[in-house]
Amino acid sequence: MEKIYSNELEQYKKRLKLVLDATKICIFELNIDKQVYTYFENAEAIFNINPNKILNDIKPFSTLCKNDFLNSIINYFYHLDDRCIIENSFDKIFKQISHTYEARLKSNNHNYVWCKFDIIPFKDAENSLCILGVISNIDILKKRLNELAHKAEIDTFTGLYAKKRFEEICLEKFANNVNKAFALIIFDIDDFKIINDTYGHNMGDRIILAVAEHNRNVFGNNIIGRFGGDEFVILVSNFKSVDEVINKVKSILITKFENLIITKSVGISIYQNADDNYEMLLKKADRALYEAKKEKNNYVLSV
Ligand code: GH3
Ligand code: MG
Repeated sequence: MEKIYSNELEQYKKRLKLVLDATKICIFELNIDKQVYTYFENAEAIFNINPNKILNDIKPFSTLCKNDFLNSIINYFYHLDDRCIIENSFDKIFKQISHTYEARLKSNNHNYVWCKFDIIPFKDAENSLCILGVISNIDILKKRLNELAHKAEIDTFTGLYAKKRFEEICLEKFANNVNKAFALIIFDIDDFKIINDTYGHNMGDRIILAVAEHNRNVFGNNIIGRFGGDEFVILVSNFKSVDEVINKVKSILITKFENLIITKSVGISIYQNADDNYEMLLKKADRALYEAKKEKNNYVLSV
């Protein structure tokens, strides 16, 4: 009877190990009151280190006071930028609340791996507060998510800010800057359809890249976006005079590319008082662009 029981236990452990290996999941148990890790299953999947080495390394932490114990654990296991997340987790543990968080764990002492932690507090037979932690490796998922977020923020073709991100930055800047010297520039390439039709779409693409580069050269320290197609926007801050902005605009009116002269039409609006906001500035600059388009190769400053 005993043998059957121990066989079943072995089988159970084998299955568990297979599942943990395949899913790169690590399970640990920590006695919070005694500050002792009592169990570390499949630690290699996350840390690339033998769990016995981890248990040995952290053993001396048990004698530290509560604060030093927490600091040592954070230093040993985590990315220091995630300190707040771990402190929050410990707050919840003391309130015996099950929870989930994401943080970066040190793997093999130099790389960091994004992990998801499911934390389950419980009281053991001696009434000590303990937690069972389930760590899943979500590094690939997290990196893909970051890539997607980056793509949504950046116009992948030119590397300039995409519309949504450009607008967010403007709103942040308007809300935070006490100085409030802002100019919003919006411009559109003249007769770009004709350029595409005459020289081909490929040449059109190269011109868009050249115009983006020209913007960077002249307005490099400012926020530059592409609203799509042949339309670009720039938020200029910290200029000394409107003339300074206009002189810079004049220098981007024409981009020379190979044998071609590419001209633009530009609308400019200036942040004038505390009641101005991003939508108003954009509307004014847009109207000025519309006026500038009547002549082309031209700029109009909105009043
Ligand atoms: P306007 O002087 O009034 O601005 O005339 P336009 O011909 O430039 O017309 P508009 O700005 O309305 O159209 C821009 C055209 O740019 C439409 C589209 O065919 C082309 N376009 C938009 N995005 C791209 C791109 O990424 N590459 C290329 N080659 N063409 C693009
Ligand atoms: Mg155009």
